[in-house]
Amino acid sequence: MKKIIVTGGAGFIGSAVVRSIIGNTADAVCVIDKLTYAGNLESLAEVSADPRYRFEQADICDRRALDRIFTDFRPDIVMHLAAESHVDRSIDGPGEFIQTNIVGTYTLLEAARSYFDTLSEEAKREFRFHHISTDEVYGDLEGPEDFFRESTPYAPSSPYSASKAASDHLVRAWKRTFRLPTIVTNCSNNYGPYHFPEKLIPLVILNALDGKPLPVYGTGAQIRDWLYVEDHARALYLVATRGVPGETYNIGGHNEKKNIEVVETICALLDELRPRDDGRSYREQITFVADRPGHDLRYAIDAAKIGRELGWKPQETFDSGIRKTVEWYLANKDGWCRRVQDGSYSRERLGLGGK
Ligand code: NAD
Repeated sequence: MKKIIVTGGAGFIGSAVVRSIIGNTADAVCVIDKLTYAGNLESLAEVSADPRYRFEQADICDRRALDRIFTDFRPDIVMHLAAESHVDRSIDGPGEFIQTNIVGTYTLLEAARSYFDTLSEEAKREFRFHHISTDEVYGDLEGPEDFFRESTPYAPSSPYSASKAASDHLVRAWKRTFRLPTIVTNCSNNYGPYHFPEKLIPLVILNALDGKPLPVYGTGAQIRDWLYVEDHARALYLVATRGVPGETYNIGGHNEKKNIEVVETICALLDELRPRDDGRSYREQITFVADRPGHDLRYAIDAAKIGRELGWKPQETFDSGIRKTVEWYLANKDGWCRRVQDGSYSRERLGLGGK
């Protein structure tokens, strides 16, 4: 049984990681989360009563809080997912991204290093600091045959990806300079249940159902490599428990899709599962909007290394994963989704009561 700190555990991927660890292993989890707009304790409701689960509301920039939690919980593994994660927000206001993604990662590394120094030699050999990052650090790809590999040079395009790139470099430096046993993973775009509706897939599903426009940047030609979030969560646990310190693992689903294809697939699924009252297709709601500045055209991951070395492969295809996702949003539209859309999830979280 391992004791695992999961930072950002109330977010989209972090909550999938926590649900998966508590549901499928004997390990204990301590979530550290500031509960920004993206953190939602309702995404952890199914594990909240488990004695192996514990929650600490704290900012990863707060060294004193981190020291207290490390000393008290005594983790074997840190899985670091806390971040500002939305590219559009990083263009409107980069400051929070620099603070959380760079200064926060630095502060967490320093807290982990101080704690690591107190461990026995045996515990030091077991300890892991696993930093969860994105394929966006690599910039974009030129030719259709090209893929991001672990050796691909960094060339981030947005304030978000630049801040993640900086944090990846810090994590590797703490391994090289201070011998902290760190591992980095870089993953492609995730989708699935509990995804905050500012991101493409949940936004399109919920806007479609609400009769609103379905915004597509430019011509929708941007290509992303989509991975079902539960496949990512399984990969992360494998890396955290069996990965080799100092190594980087790319994680991806080999599901390259143009954004317009993703939107059209969702429309087709909704046409089948929840037809519009007027019998027309949800496709009619698609609206093309001005492209995002610096928008990368194509991302695609070569995930051969994690398959070869750790035996991971995704269980969902894009077709099976997107169907599950649309079904989840239909089933949770009046619950989790409504409370996120009207903001009551955060009012309740702050003890101010729901609407
Ligand atoms: P998210 O925005 O859904 O969740 C981030 C979580 O971090 C939230 O719960 C938030 O409250 C918390 N947080 C933010 N600032 C904090 C701070 N200063 N202190 C403590 N907690 C803080 O993000 P996500 O989509 O779940 O992504 C998780 C990680 O995975 C991020 O590091 C992201 O860069 C990386 N990633 C995401 C994707 C993707 O497609 N979503 C793909 C690859 C990598």
